Amino acid sequence: MSIFTPDLYLHRITDLTPQRLAQHHIRGIILDVDNTLTHHGSQEVTQEILDWLALMKHHGLKLTIASNNYDKRIRPFAKKLGLDYIAMSCKPMTIAFTKACKRFQLPPGQVALVGDQVYTDILGGNLKGLFTVLVQPFELETGWLFRAKRKLEQRHLRHCRIEEQEKE
Ligand SMILES: [Mg+2]
Repeated sequence: MSIFTPDLYLHRITDLTPQRLAQHHIRGIILDVDNTLTHHGSQEVTQEILDWLALMKHHGLKLTIASNNYDKRIRPFAKKLGLDYIAMSCKPMTIAFTKACKRFQLPPGQVALVGDQVYTDILGGNLKGLFTVLVQPFELETGWLFRAKRKLEQRHLRHCRIEEQEKE
């Protein structure tokens, strides 16, 4: 498996079930924000996401946000969800993930990382030894740099199949 390959590829974060996480002995989740929990730069969050977060907490999963975005963007969002957060987390560097595992008091093998970008979220998560979950972005970015990056990402996902939501 390549360092750019996620352990799991899903349409959206809400397709990730407690059962699936339990299968992999996951007890903590590090969450990306932009295009994973909400639209890029948005402070809004859907009821579906709120329900999913509540479900994860109900199953005893520890949660924290780790975003490369600024503190002033992430702080109010994390506060609204009642989650710990790490802003300016410099993914794919693994410093933020080390910090999150320490906060959780869990080894990397029991922590999942959910994000929408291969070159930051998945690469960093794999380097740290986390269980990496790639989700499709809420929306495709319009800038040329982002579009070029998304095209490159596809090369690493050729052999990855998006798994459908498990029936409960
Ligand atoms: Mg993102």
